Amino acid sequence: MSAALADLNGPQREAVARVHGPVLVLAGAGSGKTRVITRKIVHLIQDHGVEPRHIAAVTFTNKAAREMKGRVQQSLEGRSARGLTISTFHRLGLEILRQDITQLGYRENFSVVDPGDSLTLVRNLLREMQGPSDLAESIQARISKAKNDGHGPEDMPIRDRLDELAQRVYRPYQRALKACNSVDLDDLILLPTELLSRFAEAQERWQERIRYLLVDEYQDSNGAQYRLLQNLLKKRQNLTAVGDDDQSIYSWRGAAADNLQRLAQDFPDLRLIKLEQNYRSTGRILQAANHLIAHNPHLFEKKLWSSLGEGDRIQVIVARDETDEAEQVVNAILRDRFQRQGEYRDYAILYRSNHQSRPFETALRNARIPYQLSGGISFFERSEIRDFLAYCRLLANPDDDAAFLRAVNTPRRGIGSATLETLGEHAKARQMSLFAALWEEDLDLAERPLLALRSFGDWLNRTAEACARSELMPTLRDLLEEIGYRRYLENEGDEREARRKWENLEELLAWMARLLEQEDGPKNLAELLNRLSVIHILERDEDDEERDVLRLSTLHGAKGLEFSRVFLVGVEEELLPHRNSETPAQIEEERRLFYVGVTRARHKLSLSYCRRRKRYGEAQAPEPSRFLQELPRELLDWASGAEEQEALSATAACSRLRALLDD
Ligand code: ATP
Ligand code: MG
Repeated sequence: MSAALADLNGPQREAVARVHGPVLVLAGAGSGKTRVITRKIVHLIQDHGVEPRHIAAVTFTNKAAREMKGRVQQSLEGRSARGLTISTFHRLGLEILRQDITQLGYRENFSVVDPGDSLTLVRNLLREMQGPSDLAESIQARISKAKNDGHGPEDMPIRDRLDELAQRVYRPYQRALKACNSVDLDDLILLPTELLSRFAEAQERWQERIRYLLVDEYQDSNGAQYRLLQNLLKKRQNLTAVGDDDQSIYSWRGAAADNLQRLAQDFPDLRLIKLEQNYRSTGRILQAANHLIAHNPHLFEKKLWSSLGEGDRIQVIVARDETDEAEQVVNAILRDRFQRQGEYRDYAILYRSNHQSRPFETALRNARIPYQLSGGISFFERSEIRDFLAYCRLLANPDDDAAFLRAVNTPRRGIGSATLETLGEHAKARQMSLFAALWEEDLDLAERPLLALRSFGDWLNRTAEACARSELMPTLRDLLEEIGYRRYLENEGDEREARRKWENLEELLAWMARLLEQEDGPKNLAELLNRLSVIHILERDEDDEERDVLRLSTLHGAKGLEFSRVFLVGVEEELLPHRNSETPAQIEEERRLFYVGVTRARHKLSLSYCRRRKRYGEAQAPEPSRFLQELPRELLDWASGAEEQEALSATAACSRLRALLDD
């Protein structure tokens, strides 16, 4: 038997061996769905002689994509996987646009604006139309939702005032992006779909290129992504989708479990395959997961079993407060690692919301345990860092349009979106950069906006000269002073936030200064920037793949991953389920999230909650999560004795009573 088919169970092998025609593998956590995808790629290349470039696999995070690539490479035993696409939906979209975006009326060197940039754009547009700019985030979310549901500004459904406002911003937002030859993250899915459905030649070519399409975590793909898939699959229906409706955790983002049912309708030949053996977790962890998820209504009955033995009971840690919780967890990790002589990478601490990571980071640092924070915002993605680097990039290369757009109105200079739109149109027509266009004689702008633009341009020129002539670091510090960045931060957010952002900038400046002092250090701004981005890339890869580090992650960020020991912390009402979740559907989604967390554990699972917790500066007494109460007693092992269990059943009785009264 081919190596690609070895170590697979019957249904897994069936899914891998069905090379032609659509397959949907629908199965619970840890049942080897991702393994089906990696093996199928290997099988196609090794046993069917398919060229790697005709295969594309999509998954949900870059981290998952990298992991998958690693597994494929390993199994190919030296054979080249060159040309193989394993990426997120967004990267696949980007790849298509890189080749074909000009057909849609954009220029080739388009930029992708990140959510921070697009938020700034929305905020500026709101200000221009005298709208409430503090709603920018909600408006951005509504626009994004409309885009993902396939609605344009003219046909987006209006349910409330927020939608009305969003509709007014939507069109100028889209125009401003296009005028500046930029796309946002949603466009990375929508524009390729538009391209494929409008241009038969492009569709033909891409269908010829991607002959086999494999999708992991299918349950979390949304309507827009589905349409992209459909367009790629029209001719050959070689789709392998794997997913678990119990792990659908992005329905707020427009992901629909409907996509699962839609497949069956759109692909009549669809073969449905179920997997029931779990290869990841020991018995008790699995029983807990099965029990928990049985509280949700089900499309398909799934019962997972494992042959890995019963394993330990699930440990419950009760803490006095969040500091104590972090310390108890970290101590447990230290003890466990010492006993087993294990590695840090075997451990994960998972939580519902980013802000919960802080006490754990402190405790880990105190214990000198190396960790990696994922799911949070990395240093280089912070808005203040990106703002400042945009200025630096622009000084090094004034033709960097993305940097221009970011810098030109951060802080605001009263340059409106209509002005930028005109500038963008002009630049596009002449095939030049925005910076170059602003000096053009026949630029069609009124005097005031023209003046504002050109004085910005003059200032840039002067500052760039200063960078070349004088010492770099003082010049960059002056720059921050001149643009009034600190005041801007203070006006934008609250004081503490502003201070933290300023400290981040100080950290970056110190880092730049250190680099400049090195012996073979960078000689000018452009080299300095290069060095920064190289460091940035190296560090990240190293963080991800090589180093033996513990992982701190949100539950969302942990999807698809597995760890020998998992600590799921903050298992309290208001945190998990999250306080914004009220409707039964929202509670079900929170339960799925909890299910995702539980099923990350291979050998040992610990759950923790606090009796007191500081929220919004006030000490509160949270209740243990209802999900904890949904787990069978006999699977749990209370660290601090029976008294807690009684307390828990008392609160459970109270909640039940309350639920009855509410009914
Ligand atoms: P999730 O729903 O969490 O994404 P999954 O269904 O994708 O889980 P995998 O990550 O593919 O599951 O597999 C879980 C673990 O089980 C992995 O460590 C994998 O190597 C192992 N595994 C899967 N199938 C088999 C098999 N047939 N024999 C041995 N081990 C297997
Ligand atoms: Mg998986």
